Amino acid sequence: MFEKSINLFSRAQQSIPGGVNSPVRAFKSVGGTPVFMKSAKGAYMFDADGNRFIDYINSWGPMILGHAYEPVVKAIQEYAQYSTSFGAPTELEIEMAELIISMAPNVDLIRMVSSGTEACMSAIRLARGFTGRNKIIKFEGCYHGHADSFLVKAGSGVATFNIQTVPGVTAGVANDTLTCAYNGLPAVEQLIAEHKGEIAAIIIEPVAGNMGCILPQPGFLEGLRAACNQHGIIFIMDEVMTGFRLAPGGAQERLKINADLVTYGKVIGGGMPVGAFGGKKEIMQHISPLGNVYQAGTLSGNPLAMIAGYVMLKTLKENPSIYKQLDETTDYLRNGLNDVLKASGTPYVINQLGSMISVHFSDHPIVNFSTAASANNELFKKFFHAMLKRGVYLPPSAFETWFLCSALTKADVDATIQAAKESLQEIL
Ligand code: PLP
Repeated sequence: MFEKSINLFSRAQQSIPGGVNSPVRAFKSVGGTPVFMKSAKGAYMFDADGNRFIDYINSWGPMILGHAYEPVVKAIQEYAQYSTSFGAPTELEIEMAELIISMAPNVDLIRMVSSGTEACMSAIRLARGFTGRNKIIKFEGCYHGHADSFLVKAGSGVATFNIQTVPGVTAGVANDTLTCAYNGLPAVEQLIAEHKGEIAAIIIEPVAGNMGCILPQPGFLEGLRAACNQHGIIFIMDEVMTGFRLAPGGAQERLKINADLVTYGKVIGGGMPVGAFGGKKEIMQHISPLGNVYQAGTLSGNPLAMIAGYVMLKTLKENPSIYKQLDETTDYLRNGLNDVLKASGTPYVINQLGSMISVHFSDHPIVNFSTAASANNELFKKFFHAMLKRGVYLPPSAFETWFLCSALTKADVDATIQAAKESLQEIL
């Protein structure tokens, strides 16, 4: 079934570290060979061997309208003839900024970058520059990209590979990153008290997606917001996953929580390498060239990335029913999975909000990193492979959320539920 992928993987390892350009793709934690993709359309991906998969990764979030969404593809083709990069401002960048500001709450000014990592790294620098303080608080199992400050008790691949301290991150940098358990407000309040006047920012995934999907418990985000107000701390909501996915205005809109700074990535680029950070003018005006907090990028605001993101966001803004449909399809998936998991007799937890969902094989609620880590993740590995064999492409780790796209039909979900039923029968 995977002969060509197996050959490609052994060839890739001769020239690319571990054969991949981003670690979780290597399937190291679930074992086996990564599947090498050739094309994708709508809810499906097709690999080098000609297998078809129903895709629940969707490029780790960006492809909310499905793969190769025609208006995005056409726009990229049209714009490519004007140049693939100017390194000078364009009207398209203004249109993109205006569109984002019209959709995202609490964003007066927005700066485009080329990845979610850059967005979060820049937001932290801005928060430090604005407050004149050094330390930040992040949450165990949250992932904000691979910048040094964030590789402390991080989620996603760092959690998947159980990396405790990342060589190359200096102790000085790591010491400025304080961590707390997700959903544990009292510990955050205590940390703030212990480091009075030292905390520049709290950064959080408002719905965590890098330790599986974990929802904020009622009052948690509100409590963080209040603590930030009280202590002059910048509240950064990392909406790289949730932005334009949970609602046109992301988690800020869906959960009715206001951020001081917000970071975007994934959906904002329509599948092209894009990120952005934005917020209130009072803070954003400290960014260079308005202020002294330096931040730059040769390819920032790249025309192909801008047009892809613009078409994607405009489609979402003009068709809010897409969100309703995504929610309904994900509810349908959750109910179906619930039935087959219950019938299997194995302990499980399904966490979901909107089109983010994950399954943990666990007899306890999954509310933070330690509860996610103590689930039966060995069983998840078997489930992953059993589903892959049946043409369902799940994230190759229990520490990742699944993403749905609007191209996914009820028939696809029915096929997924049937595959889950057969997979559970095989592995239990
Ligand atoms: N923030 C969150 C919440 C993410 O999930 C990710 C990537 O998965 C990032 C930041 C980093 O984004 P990028 O991989 O585009 O650098």
